[in-house]
Amino acid sequence: MITKQFKTALPGPKAKILLDRDAQVIAPVSARVYPFVMKKGRGAEVWDVDGNRFIDFVAGIAVAATGHSHPQVVEAIKATADKFLHISGDFYHEAQVELGERLSRLAPFSEPAMSFLTNSGTEAIEGALKMARAVTGRPRFIGFYGGFHGRSMGSLAFTASKNAQQRGVFPTMPGVTHVPYPNTYRPLFAGEDQGLAVLDYMENVVFQSNVPPDEVAAILVEPIQGEGGYLVPPPSFLPGLRELCDRHGILLIVDEIQSGIGRTGKMFAVEHFGVQPDVVCVAKGLGSGMPIGSVTARKSLMEKWPYNAHGSTYGGNPICCAAALATLDLVESTYMENARQMGDYLSENLRALQEKHPVIGDVRGKGLMIGLELVEDRISKKPAKTFASKMTQQAYQNGLLLLPCGQSTVRLAPPLMIDPAIAEEGLVILDQSFSDVAAMMGI
Ligand code: PLP
Repeated sequence: MITKQFKTALPGPKAKILLDRDAQVIAPVSARVYPFVMKKGRGAEVWDVDGNRFIDFVAGIAVAATGHSHPQVVEAIKATADKFLHISGDFYHEAQVELGERLSRLAPFSEPAMSFLTNSGTEAIEGALKMARAVTGRPRFIGFYGGFHGRSMGSLAFTASKNAQQRGVFPTMPGVTHVPYPNTYRPLFAGEDQGLAVLDYMENVVFQSNVPPDEVAAILVEPIQGEGGYLVPPPSFLPGLRELCDRHGILLIVDEIQSGIGRTGKMFAVEHFGVQPDVVCVAKGLGSGMPIGSVTARKSLMEKWPYNAHGSTYGGNPICCAAALATLDLVESTYMENARQMGDYLSENLRALQEKHPVIGDVRGKGLMIGLELVEDRISKKPAKTFASKMTQQAYQNGLLLLPCGQSTVRLAPPLMIDPAIAEEGLVILDQSFSDVAAMMGI
């Protein structure tokens, strides 16, 4: 039984007024899936402008890592704001140095690291791409179908989760060749191991046919694919990709913008696979909601990036750095382990829900990065697209924020501080929403 803490029907009267005003002045280009108008948030709970309360299983797309308005993060922001708001990338300040030191200690490779700080995920990717071309002197890149890396012209050249992202804006940055991402639920290649099959395809088809490997600067990969459907690759894939890169002198750039900063129960998802990349890009969870990202690379590479070849006015903003340092304190001390434990708890319960709701074809993920792929039936595995879009709407009507990804996957990416009581409440709403949509669709 769900107990909704609602004061109005959804969207409520105050929300409706804001939605109307928004429609007049905010570009309608961004996808908004349902009309949640936020007033405040605490931890994994959020309230809309009409006082209706929701459980948050998306955390602003994996951003509110420490929960909404964590007091330690808010305090760090306020204390920094009292001193100065901005100084620009042309100067120095302590929080930027401290964050660089912290990222060097945390970086998922044994060599010391250096970081270039940005304001967003897409800027982190742009920085990594420019650095890779500059230090290798090579022009080409490899990306993956289903990947999402941002929406600016360089990162967009790799983004291949939905063609709406690229429609009407071609040409993006030239030089990117896409290959399939291993999908164990929907195998594309013959053979048991989809990871090895993709590597074989890269080596023996792509590199032999039209992409000379000695012209490839870097391979850009999400260690767990996010927008593409929360796909976890088989264990063979990332170690094999590392070997392939080493064989051909190609840099391995991991995009941990969604999967990083403790979300999967380790600081970086790539650590689950025992692989050391050359470059890691982060953003989202790093600032708990303040706009900050980083290109963190092996020092030996960063030192070769020519002086003045890149820069940013706002990157490394003092308030954002302070928020990131407070976030990392919390994630390292407590929330990364909580993500592991609560991830196990949620996944176990979601597998139980899978028994009950035949539409749930696959439950997958690591830590608090969990996807439920919905299918019309488990034999054909036809994506249940209508069901998936109705699910996010119905969960909202029942008091739970969810977002879709892939063709028909419901993603769960709650704040890393979520506790069993709130998680349980979310699960009950999820269960009810599956039943409601099935009834609505006459299934
Ligand atoms: N890379 C990944 C894996 C992402 O999930 C995203 C955003 O969803 C990005 C890059 C782009 O980040 P931003 O929206 O901050 O530019």
